[in-house]
Formats: sequence, C-alpha cells, structure tokens
Amino acid sequence: MTAAVQLPSAPEIWPEAVPYWQGAADGVLMLMRCLACEEHYVHPRPFCPHCGSNRTEWREAQGSGTIYTFTITERAPVFKVPAMVELAEGPIMMTAIVDCEPAEVKIGQPVMVSFCPTDGGAPLPVFRPA
Ligand SMILES: [Zn+2]
Repeated sequence: MTAAVQLPSAPEIWPEAVPYWQGAADGVLMLMRCLACEEHYVHPRPFCPHCGSNRTEWREAQGSGTIYTFTITERAPVFKVPAMVELAEGPIMMTAIVDCEPAEVKIGQPVMVSFCPTDGGAPLPVFRPA
C-alpha cells in the first residue's frame, strides 16, 4: 500500500478574487495595488485599505518574499508549516512553507512562491526556500 498524497481542499472563489485565482492557475501570484497611494495589498477589495481610494488595479507580484513568522504543525494532514510571508512589494500574506524540512525554516528566510494543487480547484499559492 502506498501513502496517498492528500491535497488541500479547493478554495472557495469569491467574485472579487477571481483574478487572484486565475493568476494562481497560470502560476502567477496576483496582488492588488492602489493607483492613488501606490501601496500593494493582498486581500482583494475594490478600495484601498491604506487610503480608501477606489482607484485600484491587479498586478503580478514578483513572487519573492521573506518569512515573517511561522509555526510547525507536525500532525496537520497537508501543510506542516503554516506561515506569514512578507512579500517583496510589502504586504504580508497567510500561506504555508513547503519543500523543506520544518526544522530548517527560519524567520527572515528568503522564499519564492510555488503553487500547490488542490482537490479539484485552483492551486494555492505557497512558498518554498529561495
Ligand atoms: Zn491607497
């Protein structure tokens, strides 16, 4: 008997987040950016959380960042290292660190985006050591 690889559940896709998940399907991390104050943000919304402007756009992120904080969940069925990653553009996103030993993960470690298949849905943006 071989160990089955358990996939994470497919994400529920809300209308305002469609570009984010289309990007993920194409292997691109998408961020929102405010055209008024030029700040980037992760959680999709039609107005800027920094200045309130509704002049926003979707942009391709560089896909690089550093680990802001993390935890190790040895008994979790899918992701052993849930983490928050500070993206090169500035915002911090909830994600998971993959493709490394949990004991080797460090705060401040450079990481690159990767995409984890889900159970019948869009892939999830996760990060691996750069
Ligand atoms: Zn703004």
